[in-house]
Amino acid sequence: MRKPFVAGNWKMNKTSDQATLLAADMLPGLEAVKTVERVICPPFTSLMVLSGMLADSEVKLGAQNLHWEESGAYTGEISPAMVKEFCQFVILGHSERRAYFGDTDESVNKKVKAAFAHGLIPIVCVGETLDEYESGKTAEVVTRQVKNGLKEIESENAEKLVVAYEPIWAIGTGKAANPEGANAVIGGVVRQNLAELFGNDRAQKIRILYGGSVNGQNAASFFQQPEIDGGLVGGASLKAEDFVKIVESAT
Ligand code: PEP
Repeated sequence: MRKPFVAGNWKMNKTSDQATLLAADMLPGLEAVKTVERVICPPFTSLMVLSGMLADSEVKLGAQNLHWEESGAYTGEISPAMVKEFCQFVILGHSERRAYFGDTDESVNKKVKAAFAHGLIPIVCVGETLDEYESGKTAEVVTRQVKNGLKEIESENAEKLVVAYEPIWAIGTGKAANPEGANAVIGGVVRQNLAELFGNDRAQKIRILYGGSVNGQNAASFFQQPEIDGGLVGGASLKAEDFVKIVESAT
């Protein structure tokens, strides 16, 4: 019922020339996997050139952040309309932005609303730290992030949402979560909270991804889980062969 979804978060990697080469390398493999929604999220500086490259492709582009204001004196920021020129998706509330750049549930909420107002689909990231995980606070933290980050979102927009559950201790560490454990958080906490916000029918339509050290070897074990609809992939999305393999595993 929910179309599988895999997004590659290239983070702060690749100049536009390098991004062009990487995209060219992975495009034939990605194009072939029609049953999966495929998104690549390069840095802002590569969006223009990649949007030209992907003009006739089913592979979509996403940005890694935006500012909620329309325009104005916000040096260094990028508005929703600027993102919309090139992208269909935008990653919001990634743990690196929360940890290093001051993103909060409140600012994520403003960004989600601004993204929808401009016809962008947000990929909203939630997840607990290692300390929170070890002290049994996963459900509490993820509930707070979902409830506050997605507060007052219009119900018609809600079902377009993509949510990524990314335990912070699994991001970039090579220590992926246990697939059954991730499935339990996604079904029992993330989707449960989405149902409380938007009703069960809508919650059943929302794609929820797992993210955190997904690679070509372990991807299938996550995507086989009934509540996991795909992946948000960091490191492995910078290697064409690995990323294509991950996307193939989501079919
Ligand atoms: C991410 O940055 O969203 C991520 C999941 O990174 P990695 O796949 O490298 O753990």
